[in-house]
Amino acid sequence: MNYRKLLHFPQNCASFLANHHFRWISLVAGLPLFGMVTAYAITADEAETAAVKVRQQQVTEALALPTFSAVNSDTRYWREEPIRRGDTVAALLNRLGINDGDANGFLSGNPVSRDLLKLKTGQTVSVKTDDDGKLYALQFLNDDDNGEKMLVAVERNAKGQWQASADPVETQMVPTVRSVTVKSSASGALAQAGVPAEVRAQLNDIFADKLDLAQLKAGDKMRLVFETYLYQGSPITTGNVLAAEIDSQGKHYAAFYFTQGDDSGTYYDEEGRPFKQGFARQPVTNARVSSPFGLRYHPILHALRLHSGIDFAAVVGTPIVAPADGVVASAQRENGYGNVVTLRHNAKMTTLYAHMSRFAQGLKAGQPVKAGEVIGYVGTTGRSTGPHLHFEVRVNGQAVDPATSALPTRTLTPSEHLAFRQQSVKLAQDLKLLRAIPTTVAQLD
Ligand SMILES: [Zn+2]
Repeated sequence: MNYRKLLHFPQNCASFLANHHFRWISLVAGLPLFGMVTAYAITADEAETAAVKVRQQQVTEALALPTFSAVNSDTRYWREEPIRRGDTVAALLNRLGINDGDANGFLSGNPVSRDLLKLKTGQTVSVKTDDDGKLYALQFLNDDDNGEKMLVAVERNAKGQWQASADPVETQMVPTVRSVTVKSSASGALAQAGVPAEVRAQLNDIFADKLDLAQLKAGDKMRLVFETYLYQGSPITTGNVLAAEIDSQGKHYAAFYFTQGDDSGTYYDEEGRPFKQGFARQPVTNARVSSPFGLRYHPILHALRLHSGIDFAAVVGTPIVAPADGVVASAQRENGYGNVVTLRHNAKMTTLYAHMSRFAQGLKAGQPVKAGEVIGYVGTTGRSTGPHLHFEVRVNGQAVDPATSALPTRTLTPSEHLAFRQQSVKLAQDLKLLRAIPTTVAQLD
């Protein structure tokens, strides 16, 4: 039989086959449903009976299949996908096999969602989808322009329209405890113990006046307590190091974080004496701290706010001075920071001054500056709600609390000393407990 010839006469296929060769019916009809050719060992006499049987079977299968696929397309589930370097939302969805023209149109065309959907490498995006590659919702955590932790959500509302939102997230703080014995390097041992990069940067900074963490030797020990913030039970970010101690080459160092009220805290030793010197000056004199560094709660929303520097409220035109000797790394205009100057003080530390009304006359990159020298003037350029200096300190590129890393540490008043005692006693007990644990890595949380 010429099968090709059959294809030229499709309207006659069934009758032609039925009349001439039953074997072909079972073959051709069976193909779309079963996706494979079943070999029927039949003779011409048995063919008619066989074909009838196959037809009956087809009806049963044909009814069952649509029901099955209808159940499938209703099933929606969440998938999680880490953001890779250079990822866009479109690329990430594509990787998950999601192809939803309607959703893509909203994600790329809506200015609100476009602004919110700036992805950061290493974050995880949760995507609600189904087996047909349709998108129902997408959400992830992000920092807004003020450093506030937001839950960005893009979803279809009840009317089937797309909408984007960003809301502060509710978090819970838990102290995390680690005990580390240096084998080859302190940073390696800390990383192995799951101590995040931000906390390692803080440790470098806390002990900067006493020792260089990179110089710690095998056998040296470090114990620390730091803040971890949880969102729905998963850690999303870290806060301050609350206590840290180092035993190195027969010497013991211990630092305790102390804060009262809304002020930025700083570190003191067991006796309540300032743990480090800091810069001799402030970048603006007699200015009030209007917003401290780090994570702060919204009292009602319990929302987490991450501020990468300290804000000093001051009138426009107040001179800003270099708090320590350094070299101008950059003096330029940026979107968020406005007129911003960066100073490099040593191989590890840089400081940043944002929202200036103007730079000091002739200030340019590469120029050395002395402590106390004017580098610019307070303003409200860039994304700023009012005249203030946004002051940042970075150690190895990582933002650290200027109050603990650079600004002069205040001596405690007698009443503060009493409060410090109460706070540090508990932390000292945690550290003491860690000392008794012989393992390299310990986690008590
Ligand atoms: Zn600020």
